[in-house]
Amino acid sequence: MSDATALSAPWRATVLTLYPEMFPGPLGVSLSGDALGRGAWDLSAQNIRAHGLGRHRSVDDTPAGGGAGMVLRCDVLAAAIDAASGPDDPRPRLLMSPRGRPLTQARVRALAAGPGLVVICGRFEGVDERVIAGRGLEEVSIGDYVLSGGEIAAMVLIDACVRLLPGVMGKEASGVEESFENGRLEYPHYTRPREWEGRVIPDVLTGGNHAAIARWRGAEALRLTAERRPDLLDRSVMPFTE
Ligand code: SAH
Repeated sequence: MSDATALSAPWRATVLTLYPEMFPGPLGVSLSGDALGRGAWDLSAQNIRAHGLGRHRSVDDTPAGGGAGMVLRCDVLAAAIDAASGPDDPRPRLLMSPRGRPLTQARVRALAAGPGLVVICGRFEGVDERVIAGRGLEEVSIGDYVLSGGEIAAMVLIDACVRLLPGVMGKEASGVEESFENGRLEYPHYTRPREWEGRVIPDVLTGGNHAAIARWRGAEALRLTAERRPDLLDRSVMPFTE
C-alpha cells in the first residue's frame, strides 16, 4: 500500500462476533452513524459461526477441567480471525475481556490515530486461552464488571475511537478539554436560562472575562477531580494549564 493510499484509507473496524446483527446498532446513529454514512470510517461485523464446525456450525465446547458454561474454541476463532485479517493487516487485534487492561482515553486516542481495529467479542465463559497468544490478541476491559458478551464492550471502544477521527466531531469539540484528556474531569457546563428554579449560572461565566472563565474552569476541574477521582491526579503527568 502506498503512503497516499494509507492516508486516504478510512479507519476500519472489523468485529468478530456470534451476533453480527447487533451492529452497527447504536454506532449507526448520531455522530458515529453520520460519519459511517459518509465513509469517514468503515465497519464490518463478521459472524464467527461461519467458521463453526460440523453440521451445527459449533463454536464452543465444555471447559477442560470441568466447571460451568462453555468456552469458545481456539480453532474456530483463529479461522475467523485469519479470514478477517491477514498477516499484512496492520490493525491491532483486540479481545474484549474483563481480564484485560482497563480502557483509557489515552489508549483510545492511540487506537483512533492508527489504521483501525480488529475486535473479537467473547461469549459464554470466554475464549480458549491459546488463541490469545496464537493470534497476538490484546485483551481490553471496559470496566470492573461482567457483561454477557463482548459486543457492547466493542461498541463502547469503537464509539470512543470514532468520535476522535478527523472531521467526526467538528472543530468546537476537538476533545482536548474533555474529561480525562488532561488527567482530570471536565468542569461543569451551563446554558440558558440564566436562572432556573432559583439556581443561577455562576456570574463568572456570563461576565465575558475569558481569562477569569478559564481560571474558574481550571479550578472547578481540579476540585471535581480531587473530590471524585483523586487517582487521576496521582496519575497525571500533565502540568496544570489554563
Ligand atoms: N468468565 C469470564 C466472563 C465472561 S463474560 C470471566 O469471569 O472473566 C463473556 C464475554 O463478555 C467475555 O468473553 C468478554 O468478551 C465480554 N465481557 C464481559 N465483561 C467485559 C468487560 N468488562 N470488558 C470487556 N469485555 C467484557
